Amino acid sequence: MPICSHPFDDDKLHEECGVFGAIGIQDAANFVALGLHALQHRGQEAGGIVSYTQATGFNTVRRFGYVRDNFTSAKLMETLPGALAIGHVRYSTSGAKGAQIRDVQPLFAEFAMGGCAIAHNGNITNAHALRQELIERGSIFQSGSDTECMIHLMARSIQKNIPERMKDALRRVEGAFSVVAMTRSKLIGVRDPLGVRPLMLGRIGDGWILSSETCALDIIGAEFVREIEPGEMVICTESGVESSFPFDRRPSRFCIFEHVYFSRPDSIIGGQSVYETRRRIGIELAKEAPVEADLVCPIPDSGTPAAIGYSQESGIPFAMGIVRNQYMGRTFIEPTEQIRNMGVRLKLNVNRSMIAGKRVILVDDSVVRGTTSLKIREMVLDAGAAEVHFRIASPPTTWPCFYGVDTPEREKLIAATMSEDEICKYLGVNSLRFVSLDGLYRAAGEEKGRDTRSPQYCDACFSGDYPIRPSDRISAGFVTKAAE
Ligand code: AMP
Repeated sequence: MPICSHPFDDDKLHEECGVFGAIGIQDAANFVALGLHALQHRGQEAGGIVSYTQATGFNTVRRFGYVRDNFTSAKLMETLPGALAIGHVRYSTSGAKGAQIRDVQPLFAEFAMGGCAIAHNGNITNAHALRQELIERGSIFQSGSDTECMIHLMARSIQKNIPERMKDALRRVEGAFSVVAMTRSKLIGVRDPLGVRPLMLGRIGDGWILSSETCALDIIGAEFVREIEPGEMVICTESGVESSFPFDRRPSRFCIFEHVYFSRPDSIIGGQSVYETRRRIGIELAKEAPVEADLVCPIPDSGTPAAIGYSQESGIPFAMGIVRNQYMGRTFIEPTEQIRNMGVRLKLNVNRSMIAGKRVILVDDSVVRGTTSLKIREMVLDAGAAEVHFRIASPPTTWPCFYGVDTPEREKLIAATMSEDEICKYLGVNSLRFVSLDGLYRAAGEEKGRDTRSPQYCDACFSGDYPIRPSDRISAGFVTKAAE
């Protein structure tokens, strides 16, 4: 008899997040707030900051909503004093009824050797099994967050200090994790052995920064030092950075979808500009799927760099045929289907005079359920487009992600149930083409064939090739063959 409900048959929160930490800078929490603001695209539902001073101990603020609405008042920021702070932005997926403030990270725990706050980006694929085991052994969980497993595992470790306990705990955790944590005197960063999610090290004055993406270093004027390596733990103190590799070393499998959509285009990943990779995907797409047309229009903002690449390669003029209301969040991130459906119209509008009578190529980064494409096709045809051609800057999304990017179950992925031609007919457009997986790899800097790719990315959402066994889902019977 299970003693806790299974995560995949209820409305439990899942996570998609950004993490940021600072040490050795006065009023570190202000820098963390700015960093989280730059990482807001990684999670818009809630955010939290923990800071530490000897005088006040650990101070925590956790809030639902945007960073700009919660962490800008001087009065509130005064409650987060100190030269050491970490923060987290998150969002929950569809139907997350009953979201609780206690699920908002950073999570905090007081151990015999002092307090520790933890913020996690990624997804633990054996969290259900761990939670069940820990509850059986007496742990009392405070939140529904999978990240809390790390804290209970740390509590059970016999190691003498927090970083060693963290290593013990993380060796039991399967899945993707980029963790930023803090003790009274240390800022700690850890990346899972495959390095699925990003984590960057930055320097500002005498201080150190850890951040999901480099764009958040830019906002505070920090210098980008390097990426935390897959499987690496760094301990930053006021006197420097110590590095260790606590896990068995394995070839890295960074998430290719970070390049396609998730990261900001002004970030650098693996030494490459995300914008440039996206522009090159557009070039590949124009080579693989040319079509005669009058205009190349991005679905803003995520389709813009690929549309620029497509236009440059094809010679067809680029135009902002669709305009985005900058005050809306990312459509997909709205938690219910009804709001998501409305969201496309609230967020995007057609530039009628530009589109009327034209053969239009629409470039988007991805098609997941097909909701956005369907609405956009309606708007563009209403505006009098003569022809509509969709070009998608990623291969068909045919498998859900279990490593921290929110995707619906397989049945809801339009490309899992329909072929390219069928999607084209369903959308009622003149043509529709996705870039190939090889084209995507070429754009991401890999010239070779799939078997010799180095590094090979995690491309499970396009290929079903899951580099980390999604144990909980398999035991719950939720995953079909490709993942087993
Ligand atoms: P859909 O309407 O379900 O086909 O979703 C596709 C749109 O959502 C695309 O325009 C993407 O820009 C965006 N998108 C794709 N994947 C994600 C994700 N995991 N989180 C948020 N937005 C996404």
